[in-house]
Formats: sequence, C-alpha cells, structure tokens
Amino acid sequence: MRLGTPSDIKLIDENGLRVDGRTPEQLRPIKIQTDVLNRADGSAYIEWGGNKIMVAVYGPREAYPRHTQDIERAIVKARYNMAAFSVDERKKPGPDRRSVEISKVISEALQAAILVEQFPRAQIDVFIEVLQADAGTRIAGLTAASVALAAAGVPMRDLVVGCTAGKVDGQIVLDLCREEDNFGQADLPMAILARSGKVVLIQMDGDLTTEEFDRATSMILNATKRINQIQREALQGKYIAEQGGE
Ligand code: ADP
Repeated sequence: MRLGTPSDIKLIDENGLRVDGRTPEQLRPIKIQTDVLNRADGSAYIEWGGNKIMVAVYGPREAYPRHTQDIERAIVKARYNMAAFSVDERKKPGPDRRSVEISKVISEALQAAILVEQFPRAQIDVFIEVLQADAGTRIAGLTAASVALAAAGVPMRDLVVGCTAGKVDGQIVLDLCREEDNFGQADLPMAILARSGKVVLIQMDGDLTTEEFDRATSMILNATKRINQIQREALQGKYIAEQGGE
C-alpha cells in the first residue's frame, strides 16, 4: 500500500543500508512451521520479517453449493484476511476490496500448482489469516499456503514460492518492509512455480523502467531459491517429526 514519499523520510542511508539495516539484496528472516492446527487437513505458520501469518487448508472435499462445482477440476478458494489487530490502527474486520483482490490472485496462483484435474467437483479451501502485517503479506501468505497444501497431501506440480522487490530512494531492493512499501516508489510482488520457474503471480504498484524491472525480477528469482529451501526444510521437518513419533 503506497502512501507516497514525504521528502523528509530517507529510506537508504549514506552507507547504502536500508531503514532496518539490510543491504539492498538481503531478505528479512523467514521461518515456516507445518502442522500447527489440529483440525485442518494441512496447516502452516510463517514469520517473515514482521509478518505473522497462519494458513489452514481443508479438502479436497465436495464443492458446496453444488452449482459451484466444476465437472472437470477442483476449484481452489483462497481467503486472505487481515486480523483487526494486525496493523497499527485497528483494521475494520471483514472483506474489503484489497482482501478480495488478494484472495483472487492467490487462488489463481495456487490453482496453477495443484493437480486440480484429479478432483472433479471438489473444492480446496485455503484460509490465510494475517495476524501481524509488515508488507509483503500476499507473498508470505501464498508461500506458506503452498507449504500447507503440501502438508495436507494435496497433489501438486510444484511448490509456489514468491518474493517482492521494489524501488526505494531510486534503488532496486529486495523484500520491502513496511516503511519501504508505504513510502517507496514501486513495489513488485511476484511468485513462481519453484522448479519450472513459471510465473503464477505478478503485480506492480508504482513505475519501473524496463532495466529496473529486469533487475527487480532477477533479484526475486534469486531469492526464491533460498525461500524454497526454507519451504522444503519445513516439510522435511514434518516428516522427520512424524517418523520420530512412531
Ligand atoms: P502486501 O501486504 O502484500 O505488501 P499491500 O502492498 O497492499 O500488500 O500492503 C502493504 C502493507 O501495508 C501491509 O502488509 C500492511 O503492513 C499495510 N496495510 C495494508 N492494509 C492496511 C490497512 N487497512 N491498515 C493499515 N495497514 C495496512
């Protein structure tokens, strides 16, 4: 959510470091944990910088109401929601234009990864609850959602992994934090299928030149390798824990 740059806010200091001390290509810390909710078929919790997001997956199960069923494939319904206490000022509860848009783009990105043709007439529900927001929540939620789907055993072509880049004080930087998102010049969230590299989500807020766009996307692609490693470790941790428990 870009608010425009007040002239007195400096987002990159004389040493080239950002407001939170990171270098331009440095990610915020990311932690993912699977199987955090007992009643969901699959779940994941992600902490990505100041973002804290819980994801629950239910299904595939018969789509209801029945007129929503697709006889050829499962429908993927992601619902992105920000808790009232997730931002500084209380957020009015319930869906708004932004959350409806984010739910739609996340549903489409996940649909590209899931083998939906194996489940005609079914629906897969993905609930993404943002408990604490600090920019990049759509990408953090989507990255965690694909882990939760894998943890639920939903057949997928690949994991979806994403990151954002943007323009801050005229420089292209990776993984914007809230001040950078609010007061920077551009914000580019992007997600791909981890192995094939197929782009499943790309949006842009603000303007970038072609060269800046190329630099931003290559930074993102580079970062997705590290983030995908964290996703895989979270899933491997799950299976190690399950085997250990037997
Ligand atoms: P994303 O979280 O995917 O980057 P936006 O660019 O729309 O999506 O939002 C950036 C950040 O702005 C959010 O992560 C959150 O920290 C903040 N934000 C979004 N909506 C609100 C809101 N209604 N009230 C306060 N802060 C918000």
